[in-house]
Amino acid sequence: MTDFDFDVLVIGSGAAGLSAALAARQAGAERVLVAEGEGIIGGSSRLSGGLMMGAATRYQKAQGIEDSPEALFHDYMTLNQWKVEAGVVERLTQRAGLAVEWLGDLGVEFYDQLVFGGDETLPRVHCPIGRGQAVVDVLYRHCREEGVEFALGQRVDRLLVADGAVCGIAVGADEITAGSVVIATGGFGADAQKRKELFPSVFDTGWSYYIGADGSRGDALDFTRDVDAQVTGFNRGLRLLHTDFDKMYEAYIPGWLILVNHEGRRFCNETAPYGIMDGLLHEQGDSAFAIFDHKALVDATELGVARYKQSIPGSTKKQSPHWNLDIIEMMLKEGKVQKRDSLGELADAIGVPAANLEATVDRVNELVALQEDQDYLKDPKFLEPIASGPFYAVEVRPATCCFTACGLRTNRDAEVLDEAGRVIPGLFAAGEVAGGIIGPRYVGSGNSYGNCVTMGRVAGQSAAAHAH
Ligand SMILES: Cc1cc2nc3c(=O)[nH]c(=O)nc-3n(C[C@H](O)[C@H](O)[C@H](O)COP(=O)(O)OP(=O)(O)OC[C@H]3O[C@@H](n4cnc5c(N)ncnc54)[C@H](O)[C@@H]3O)c2cc1C
Repeated sequence: MTDFDFDVLVIGSGAAGLSAALAARQAGAERVLVAEGEGIIGGSSRLSGGLMMGAATRYQKAQGIEDSPEALFHDYMTLNQWKVEAGVVERLTQRAGLAVEWLGDLGVEFYDQLVFGGDETLPRVHCPIGRGQAVVDVLYRHCREEGVEFALGQRVDRLLVADGAVCGIAVGADEITAGSVVIATGGFGADAQKRKELFPSVFDTGWSYYIGADGSRGDALDFTRDVDAQVTGFNRGLRLLHTDFDKMYEAYIPGWLILVNHEGRRFCNETAPYGIMDGLLHEQGDSAFAIFDHKALVDATELGVARYKQSIPGSTKKQSPHWNLDIIEMMLKEGKVQKRDSLGELADAIGVPAANLEATVDRVNELVALQEDQDYLKDPKFLEPIASGPFYAVEVRPATCCFTACGLRTNRDAEVLDEAGRVIPGLFAAGEVAGGIIGPRYVGSGNSYGNCVTMGRVAGQSAAAHAH
């Protein structure tokens, strides 16, 4: 191995890349380099909430939560109807809890309270104090202490290949050789053209925008073409509901709103987790309307606290950035909100059948009186009457691109596979850049970050073993 400049070379310094670099060192790789295209460490991982799924952790046990990797695997696969790489997901679910504990051992602190990421039966999402940035900081510190080298502002544009094996990277004319290369370059959300080609369901909403890091341009999908890498997971990623008021994301809508489709009918529990909501909106043509009356809006504004289904530890209780009187009045002037004295007029304004909207609202008011959502099972504490005008309608679309999930196909050891399904020697990938792991249904908060750290570790260990 002495012929190489480095044993292991990692491209990208997000949670996946840092985990891979540290794990490679811990597994015995002596010379490890992280090449980062931007001038700052951390990618989308540092902007992230950093919530991580993991089963059977000491944190769960401390709260009396009995969980198992097998239960997580079952939930993951059932929710995704097995439309994911089962072998990789098994590895992920087996090791996700261990990865959370590994971070804990390194110094990441988690809130005692665990939360539900999606539709699971028990809480298995771990919330780091200081969010994703804190995780990045701890991993980076340990990498430095272990002697991992970093090269910032180095946007890799080529892989070096010798005798069919990947043996380094290049940035323009600069070449660096290595026994193994780990690709951890994140997603492609920042590249609108790639969103259009590979994640059209978010692009085609017409309001599509991305909330992750600027460096997520999908470079790896371009520079791995030379080695014939296989790409999988077309049209996958996470879409959040968006009002088109501004570019500020709001992961959940407050529970006091109801949603109706273009037929004027309710179709869901409005507090559904965002992974589920994404798919529900898809069934409705990726567009729906939030409906409410003036009193509900005023009450929500005066309360001063957004009424989400779940509050994440550490997140301060605050007003919804969109669903308050000031913003709604402002957006009314911009034509992004419809306000009418009667429901019939409101229905006409948004082009839904008036009889349906009126019947839907009658039914909601019945459910309010019953204090039970017999139709979609929303917690009764969120049920609010829609009783007296003026009435409002706001269109929502799943247009916020949180992250992307179409990427390189890997096996359970994080080795990248070629078009034929063969391992490309010397090439590994983990995190958002890997496809086939995040499925058609986002399992919930913590699915992506958990994947990045867990499979980043796996990639680092595999890369170190290959380099020896
Ligand atoms: C606001 C926000 C909140 C989120 N909250 C959560 C959450 O709570 N839980 C959860 O599970 N998921 C969450 N996600 C998603 C999750 O954080 C990301 O999917 C994950 O952090 C991606 O990590 P990564 O290491 O794969 O990529 P990144 O963290 O994006 O790192 C990739 C790095 O590679 C670099 N790079 C790219 N191309 C090159 C190149 N050619 N050469 C060199 N370097 C390159 C990039 O600049 C970047 O620094 C959130 C995402 C966002 C945007």
